[in-house]
Amino acid sequence: MPLPTDLPVVDHHCHLSPSGEGVGAARRFAAAGGTHLLLATQNYRGTVPRTIEDYRDQFDTTFRLAESIRTETGVEVRCVVAPYPIDLVHVAPLIGLEPALALHREALDLAGRFVREGRAVALGEVGLPHFPVEEPVRHACESALDHAFSVAREADCPAVVHSADLDGEGYRSLAARAQRAGLPSHRVVKHFARTNVPDADRGGVTPSYLARRELVNDVLDQEGPWFFETDFLDDPARPGAVLDLATIPRRASAIAERGLDAIERLWVPFVRSFEMVYGWRPEVPKRGSA
Ligand SMILES: [Zn+2]
Repeated sequence: MPLPTDLPVVDHHCHLSPSGEGVGAARRFAAAGGTHLLLATQNYRGTVPRTIEDYRDQFDTTFRLAESIRTETGVEVRCVVAPYPIDLVHVAPLIGLEPALALHREALDLAGRFVREGRAVALGEVGLPHFPVEEPVRHACESALDHAFSVAREADCPAVVHSADLDGEGYRSLAARAQRAGLPSHRVVKHFARTNVPDADRGGVTPSYLARRELVNDVLDQEGPWFFETDFLDDPARPGAVLDLATIPRRASAIAERGLDAIERLWVPFVRSFEMVYGWRPEVPKRGSA
């Protein structure tokens, strides 16, 4: 059975680089049936940002790339911007921990402005290092995450979280941290979720599941909200480091082969979860309209 023509096919989290495959990857995504991408910013230079201008350049690059993809491929792209949480760990030895935290907070404020101006739809990635760091650094990272959640609350948008893999306890402590900042827990999206933690165990945090075949089949019946993502990296030096950008349309088509009940489930990650978490409904443009 083909996918319904009005069903958007959305990758909730990918990275693309002007110096990688870039627009070409989005073209492959479209050819496989994909319609919408959430494009997360990344450090495009290979050196950690040291000034707020570095971050402004980075976010602007993401925004311009999104525009090129839109005009050249017809794929709808929404940007997700924030200073990468690990930047704080890497810049602290260069400029000192306190200035590093101040820079990080300023970059989060800038990301919040991008959202308020309609140039981005979420803050991301925000979060905590997925590896052990020294106590003062860990403390600074937690303080940065608290600030990220406050900025998301003020900008009225979700926060897309980078962290180590979470079990139920990890999800619930993330939810508690968001609630302390006044951010509803369903607006906290754990990106790169690689295990199926049941709805009831997550403290209301929304998972964005890595679209591996077994995991997809395992979570398809969850009530939601939840998303699918590839976390495509578009790094020529690391081909196949994560899933290819064409993965989600391919998975969606494979699921559609199972019939109407299976197709019905796809409205959860591709439409209803966006309405619940982002307050935005991805729509497939009508054919023939500009
Ligand atoms: Zn990512």
